[in-house]
Amino acid sequence: MRRKIIAGNWKMNKTPKEAAEFCKMMKDKVSSTQVDVVFCVPFVDLFPVLEQLKGTDIGVGAENMHFEDSGAYTGEISPLMLKEMGVTYVVLGHSERRQYFNETDEMVNKKVKKALDVGITPIMCCGETLEQREAGITIEWIRIQIKCGLLGLTGDEVEKVVIAYEPIWAIGTGRTATSEQAQEVCRAIRQVVGQVYGDAVAEKVRIQYGGSVSGKNAAELFAMEDIDGGLVGGASLKEEFQQIVHYQK
Ligand code: PGA
Repeated sequence: MRRKIIAGNWKMNKTPKEAAEFCKMMKDKVSSTQVDVVFCVPFVDLFPVLEQLKGTDIGVGAENMHFEDSGAYTGEISPLMLKEMGVTYVVLGHSERRQYFNETDEMVNKKVKKALDVGITPIMCCGETLEQREAGITIEWIRIQIKCGLLGLTGDEVEKVVIAYEPIWAIGTGRTATSEQAQEVCRAIRQVVGQVYGDAVAEKVRIQYGGSVSGKNAAELFAMEDIDGGLVGGASLKEEFQQIVHYQK
């Protein structure tokens, strides 16, 4: 049985003060013994969020990182910096980073490897555009993103990666994929992992759905066989996040 993982992705929202206040208000409400809960937050919010969530079982993640330990990369944040702070997750290859900051599968692959090397759990994102979906090439596209993103990893390493399937047309649009559409792609992801790394690895790897997840649709999405939780944007900024975490009730 795979344990579900429900992660908030705050994107570029909440100042450090707002972040601390939100965590203080939410920490008891989103504590769960049933699922893993993670807050992925802007770099400057990491410190106050880690402080507020100390002693809870809520994980804290960054939303990006560089793949080098240190060096002349003005404006970047290294894996070692995150590790030392106590960060345990990092979102990598989010479609917004691919779209606005030209991140490629090759860069995502380097970052995934690096995160595993330093002991931070990568949440590796993939997803198709509306144009790709309408052209009927969703599965082909996702298979390539997964193969490239995980290239060169061992099966043991792949088991530790969390994969987030986020159709780009469903992000921030209020237009959620149907649970069948989400399940179809999450199943295809598990299949490609199985083909490359073996069925035992595929059975263990956790695959999230992301894209307009809400308190209303979480239960239906998370009930699907190959969906092991969610990566939640907009709704993770609000009290509604607790309904998503406690979707079973
Ligand atoms: P959304 O974002 O829930 O606001 O659609 C999801 C994401 O981009 O991770």
